[in-house]
Amino acid sequence: MHRVIIIGAGCAGWTAAIYTARADLQPLVFTGDLPGGQLTLTTQVENFPGFPEGIPGPELMARMEQQARRLGAEVRLETVTAVNFQEHPFTVTTAQGDYQAQAVIVATGSSPRKLGIPGEQELLGRGVSYCATCDGFFFRGQTVAVVGGGDAAAEEATFLTRFVEKVYLIHRRDRLRASEALQRRVFAEEKIEILWDTLVTALLSGPEEKVKGLRIKNLKTGEESELPLTGLFVAIGHEPNTQIFAGQLELDGRGYIVTDRRCHTSVPGVFACGDVQDYRYQQAVTAAGTGCMAALEAEQFIAELEQRAYPGRLEK
Ligand code: NAP
Repeated sequence: MHRVIIIGAGCAGWTAAIYTARADLQPLVFTGDLPGGQLTLTTQVENFPGFPEGIPGPELMARMEQQARRLGAEVRLETVTAVNFQEHPFTVTTAQGDYQAQAVIVATGSSPRKLGIPGEQELLGRGVSYCATCDGFFFRGQTVAVVGGGDAAAEEATFLTRFVEKVYLIHRRDRLRASEALQRRVFAEEKIEILWDTLVTALLSGPEEKVKGLRIKNLKTGEESELPLTGLFVAIGHEPNTQIFAGQLELDGRGYIVTDRRCHTSVPGVFACGDVQDYRYQQAVTAAGTGCMAALEAEQFIAELEQRAYPGRLEK
């Protein structure tokens, strides 16, 4: 029996591990397939406080892991395949077996939605990116495209104009979904050219296996053409990693875990933090912040549980 199990090892999960380990709860962390989460897919992180020169995403995650381990977290490179939150203690299942815990912190994050077009997977990090804030800097003076029509696409296209020569904003419809304020900024920016009613159908690469252009299709005219450029930023939303929690925890219409302002889910004793419960901010520092909150709430939950079970022990 574990006191607390943490599912997921990105910014939120490691922060929850650091806090629960320091509270002497001996957390067990399941890292899943991608220890470190989305930050391991990025290059330099320049907006995480405390690193004035920036820090590579994978290094930031490795440091958080070291910190959690040093403070006593137990880490298993196993993927959770099922949970049972209907009965307490809770059960968490991996290929290695069942684990039981008094409290569970869910920090499984979200994954950027993919276009699913030829070349997208192969050219990741070679011109294809899912984060302009992370990678835009490396495209200084170049021509790039952003796909999407929401706030993220509008913000990323505007952000990229600081570095690049030109940004194509490619959207599948004839109007943006982004807020009015962000749209105004996009329309006012000379470096941005919007390609309306357009789908990206394939990525083109050169002999160095780097992006050298896009194949695009105008949905109104049916015309297909090639667009020479060196970077494609995909900003078509994220998908929360909540498949295993369906039927166990309340999810919202988009599949995110519903939490209150203190990271409590619909099941007392199960807490959620980071991108898996955050449709709006999706930042490393907000994930870390909610990881801390979930850990403090779990600590209180366990203390109350143990006080009820062994009143004498805690009253000493
Ligand atoms: P979003 O609002 O869901 O927008 C996704 C966009 O991608 C939509 O325009 C959609 O087109 C398009 N799209 C989806 N699937 C596609 C596909 N397969 N091929 C081509 N295009 C596709 O997602 P988001 O922009 O990531 O925003 C998520 C949340 O974060 C929102 O609440 C947003 O307000 C928030 N956010 C806020 C800010 C800010 O306030 N500064 C910045 C970033 C994000 P359709 O329009 O045709 O559906």
